[in-house]
Amino acid sequence: MGLFDRFSESQDMGIDLGTANTLIYIPGKDIVLDEPSVIAIDDNKNEAIAVGKEAQKMLGRTPQNVRTIRPLKDGVITDVKETEMMLREFIKKARGNNNLTRSRIIVGVPSGITSVERKAVEEAMETSGAIDNIEFIDEPIAAAIGAGLPVDEPVGSMIVDIGGGTTEVAVLSLQGIVLSDSVRIAGDEVTDAIKRYLKRTYNLIIGERTAEQIKMQIGSAYPTDDDQETMEIRGLNIVSGLPKTVTITIEEIRECIADTVESIIDAIKKILEQTPPELAGDIIDRGIMLAGGGALLRGLDSLIANETGIITHIAPNPLKCVVYGTGKVLEDYERLARTSRKR
Ligand code: ADP
Ligand code: MG
Repeated sequence: MGLFDRFSESQDMGIDLGTANTLIYIPGKDIVLDEPSVIAIDDNKNEAIAVGKEAQKMLGRTPQNVRTIRPLKDGVITDVKETEMMLREFIKKARGNNNLTRSRIIVGVPSGITSVERKAVEEAMETSGAIDNIEFIDEPIAAAIGAGLPVDEPVGSMIVDIGGGTTEVAVLSLQGIVLSDSVRIAGDEVTDAIKRYLKRTYNLIIGERTAEQIKMQIGSAYPTDDDQETMEIRGLNIVSGLPKTVTITIEEIRECIADTVESIIDAIKKILEQTPPELAGDIIDRGIMLAGGGALLRGLDSLIANETGIITHIAPNPLKCVVYGTGKVLEDYERLARTSRKR
């Protein structure tokens, strides 16, 4: 059986179960699902009424019996049952009518996942018809592979994956993690800092999605040429209870998120300090690689480079590194098998 025969019959899947976004890759088809990790549950019936983008639209807009939640928000699987329901719906969507039995599934999981959380992922797989061949890969390894780092060589690489709920910092060599740390400070905390600032300074209440927009449009970690940009923001005045508009600058946002950003950099420095000298030398030569949506925060690469003295790169498609990494392991299984673990 040739390579293409295998692909055309294959229902193998690579899954990035992220705190903010879930992505699914099928070899030969590319990414078949890319949706926010959100589920809306009808508590009366105890069933999912929507997942992903559709559920996200309902955030903050649901009747009493419906809960719209991000079950992985705090970085690990905070709501086991809900994660299971969400994942099941996503897998159904991704696989269409195909039966998953006897296909290989590789799931990227945070390196700090507990056995209870892992069990929840397995159960979601099983109830979706994927009974055999579930493997787990640590997200930093998947991210590094997806970012094109030479993970199977005896050289040190540093990957920093900044997601919604967690930042994972890892030093890798020879298909394994030499050192890693996972901190619960990432994109969500940056968004929260913006919300707190607007409330404190302008008595302005804004929703989650507006805060995200502000972060993406004028969020900044380090001064750049377009520092004069401003943004008009609409929210509710907490004093009068009426709608209100304020204009804020890039610099203001940079200051209000500075402490949060610094915590992410502290995690990087802590790992660098513990890195054995040979590997540290490799990292100095090759630089630090940033992945995850948080890598797109304007100027973050420059700030990290400035504070660590090490060249810092942003991976192409940082939001897709983990899922592409799982895909590469599926497609080149012989070579990369050691990166994933059977259950
Ligand atoms: P996870 O792996 O936890 O699901 P992702 O890698 O999907 O997380 O990244 C999601 C995070 O990236 C969110 O906090 C989101 O706000 C942030 N993000 C996405 N795009 C940008 C951007 N252009 N600028 C700043 N942050 C961004
Ligand atoms: Mg991620």
